Amino acid sequence: MHSTTKKQFKKGDVLLREGERGECAYVIETGNVEILVQRDGQSIQIGTRGPGSLIGEMAMIDDKPRTATVRALDDCEVQEITREDFARRIETADPVLKMVMRVITTRYRDMIGRTGTIQFVPPTHAAETAENADASHDVALSAIKIHNELKLALERGELMLYYQPIIDVQNMKIAGFEALMRWKHPEKGMISPGVFIPVAEEGRLIIGLSRLALDLSCDAAKALQAAAAPELLGEAPLFVGVNFSVKDFVEGDLFNHLKATIGKKQIDPIQIHLEITETLLMQAPDAARAELEKCREIGLNVSIDDFGSGYSSLSYLHYFPIDTLKIDQSFIRAMSTHAASLVLVKSIIGIARNLGMKVIAEGVESAQEAAKLREMGCEYIQGYWFSKPLPFEAALKFVQTWQAPKLEVEA
Ligand code: C2E
Ligand code: CA
Ligand code: CA
Repeated sequence: MHSTTKKQFKKGDVLLREGERGECAYVIETGNVEILVQRDGQSIQIGTRGPGSLIGEMAMIDDKPRTATVRALDDCEVQEITREDFARRIETADPVLKMVMRVITTRYRDMIGRTGTIQFVPPTHAAETAENADASHDVALSAIKIHNELKLALERGELMLYYQPIIDVQNMKIAGFEALMRWKHPEKGMISPGVFIPVAEEGRLIIGLSRLALDLSCDAAKALQAAAAPELLGEAPLFVGVNFSVKDFVEGDLFNHLKATIGKKQIDPIQIHLEITETLLMQAPDAARAELEKCREIGLNVSIDDFGSGYSSLSYLHYFPIDTLKIDQSFIRAMSTHAASLVLVKSIIGIARNLGMKVIAEGVESAQEAAKLREMGCEYIQGYWFSKPLPFEAALKFVQTWQAPKLEVEA
């Protein structure tokens, strides 16, 4: 059984009780609640809240007993934010922000204490500020909601991987795949990783996601290798690139987990490529270097993702153990219209060759781009030109039946 973070209350139920310790806060999804305080032995309503409101957060910020009781005015559905979850978010918040929250909470409590009522009238001249506050409030609420739903999705098996083929452009054989996560939401359909990965990265949830991706990728790499038509593959075993985040290194004990998984799955480590962005390397350079060295020693391949889109300081190429550079798709896109981009791509390929690294060009969308890359000596290409990311079954079919598209070679 998994614990749900969604809760239901019937009309008249007490959601939060005055005097209690703040164990959780709620975001109201449906229904309305009233906020009650005790004055001279009487319960006085000091306000109401409806869908989208956050309630019960104060006692978690300052760790004092609750100053009010919250009761359901009708049947309500709420998302729960646990104390632990909240504490972690606060811990990682900016220190000034933390202080501001405490000051506001104290003033707010004083105000309730003095007047017994809350009459919050935003100053009219501050309309824009109020709007901004509303917008960031909405963003925060939707992140909390996605986070809670994502936690459930992981438990319920709604997260899956798509596999995008990577081709050796020199001989047009299948070299490997990149594993890209998808969330098959029961109501909203397929959700893109651009929406949920950043939310997962804010907390520790990303560690669970990365572990799932690694597990599934090991199984997929073995199954695809076994099913492939031999003439469609190159000489080396087919690889699967798995995306990792900074949290995996710093908090996720990544190396030990990788080692254990590779042992358990009995997979040749050469079949797994770790994809890491340069931004990640710069966030925790020493920790990343130490972990990557160890990964390298056990035979894993280290790829730099989105190369050129972040820091782009070439000096780090020496510092880290890197096998492959993945050139960011923005360069590939600009190649045909900007001569400078073409020169840049050429230079990256040259640097990689001199340092003994391979290059994967990302986001290749046309035969012309592929032909250019081949001419410049790029090893691998990935992009919509020959395939979008595919569900596992389709990837299986791909390695059995793919027919390489014609590559125009320019005179
Ligand atoms: P990424 O690692 O740079 O992945 C490449 C993205 O480019 C994918 O988007 C892919 O579908 C898209 N793409 C590939 N070929 C083309 C093309 O020819 N044209 C265009 N316009 N796009 C192309 P996707 O699948 O939406 O993933 C977005 C990002 O989400 C990934 O960028 C990666 O940063 C992140 N992500 C995906 N799966 C995972 C995961 O399992 N773990 C982590 N940490 N991040 C992930
Ligand atoms: Ca990637
Ligand atoms: Ca990329």
